[in-house]
Amino acid sequence: MEYVSTRGESSSVSFADACLAGLAPDGGLYTPVTYPKIQPAQPGESYLSLATRILSAFAGDSIPTQIMSELVEKAYASFAHQSVTPLNQIGPDRWMLELHHGPTLAFKDVAMQIIAQIYDHLLTERGERLTVLCATSGDTGGAAAAAFAGLKSVDVFILHPHERISPIQRRFMTSTGAENIHNFALDSDFDECQAIVKSLFADHSFRDEVSLSGVNSINWTRIAAQSVYFAAAQGALGADRNLRFVVPTGNFGDALAAYVAARCGMLNGLELVSAVNSNTTMVDLMNTGALTRRSAVATHSPAMDIALPSNAERLLFEVMGKDGAKLKAFYDSFAQSGTAELDEQTKGALGCVGVKAVTIDDEATEAEMKRLLSETGTLQCPHTAVGSAAAREIPTECVDVILSTAHAAKFPETVSEITGKTPPLPDRSEEFLAREEVYERLPADLHKVREAIRAGVRR
Ligand SMILES: *Cc1c(COP(=O)(O)O)cnc(C)c1O
Repeated sequence: MEYVSTRGESSSVSFADACLAGLAPDGGLYTPVTYPKIQPAQPGESYLSLATRILSAFAGDSIPTQIMSELVEKAYASFAHQSVTPLNQIGPDRWMLELHHGPTLAFKDVAMQIIAQIYDHLLTERGERLTVLCATSGDTGGAAAAAFAGLKSVDVFILHPHERISPIQRRFMTSTGAENIHNFALDSDFDECQAIVKSLFADHSFRDEVSLSGVNSINWTRIAAQSVYFAAAQGALGADRNLRFVVPTGNFGDALAAYVAARCGMLNGLELVSAVNSNTTMVDLMNTGALTRRSAVATHSPAMDIALPSNAERLLFEVMGKDGAKLKAFYDSFAQSGTAELDEQTKGALGCVGVKAVTIDDEATEAEMKRLLSETGTLQCPHTAVGSAAAREIPTECVDVILSTAHAAKFPETVSEITGKTPPLPDRSEEFLAREEVYERLPADLHKVREAIRAGVRR
């Protein structure tokens, strides 16, 4: 399998190189040259077997199937449910696809657990090591800390805005007890953390000195790993049934994974609703063909407070017929003027992929959380409620599958304020709360952060 950059100016690379690099050198996102044809989930096929088949198809020669199977087994041993991502029926032809049974109670675990195993395997084989650097507004940092904790080939540095993430989110990152996980609490907001990460990646001599790598959803491996649960849901509900997936969306990574599953022939067609909160960039793009720069607004669903959904780039690349030069011109125009408009042909193609986007504000999210409690007796996290409300807003003939992206107990303050009930934390998470937290508080200063990383990297 070969991967090209969406911006068309980097040479094609193997799965292993695309995985370890994260972002392509020309600033684009790696994407397969051709989508492999993958057999849909078979009746009774286990999640582990399905994940092995799908990830092996994307890895090609980079990782033998037998080894992939071992990595997959290790990755998902940390999940509390045997089906890894079980379906839970909440009404006639209405299901929740529960993605929060991993160690940090959010769907980020599904991809992060396997990406850590793949990194460790590839790096050990090459005799190399890497430094993973990420900024987090909550869930990604915890998932990365849990997945990479204790691995010999990788040091992880996570930047979070001091006192601007929930205590539970922080504890998942800071209580691993692992020597290779480093947390910096910056006196700033998330955007500033993100800006410092970007500056460090742009500093080529530093990047090479510590071998920086990124595991946010620009990394293709995460998309590949997330395509598995869409295929699994289709298999479990019946190969001949038409499903509609409703996906709570921030960076559009999860939604793109559904598109990928369909492209590889693992779904019975594609009908998808990308559900966003009041950060509506995706809705405008789908409805008007315009991409416009905005600043993120804070909502009840913080993991989706994203103004520029990075993985939209991969979808646009496909609807532009994989024309990297055209895509680059579009994003260059956006970078210069803060806005860019798709041409008529691309708009037409985008309208035909089977994706709709809809916005759900905080008020509607609150109403949906209360409604889910009274109708189904379940407490749902605000992100999941955005999806569920979006599903009600756009009726469908299909069987509805709403992605439940986090456990309600991860957002106890919001959930109890809205519903009057406090979601109990699963037993397996209690041990985290008992452990000692380790993090370093730093000013939001590029130089200080760089020095702190230098000091923490194992050479
Ligand atoms: C990250 C996240 C999302 C958004 O997923 P994207 O792939 O960024 O669109 C939704 N819900 C939760 C709980 C998340 O952590």
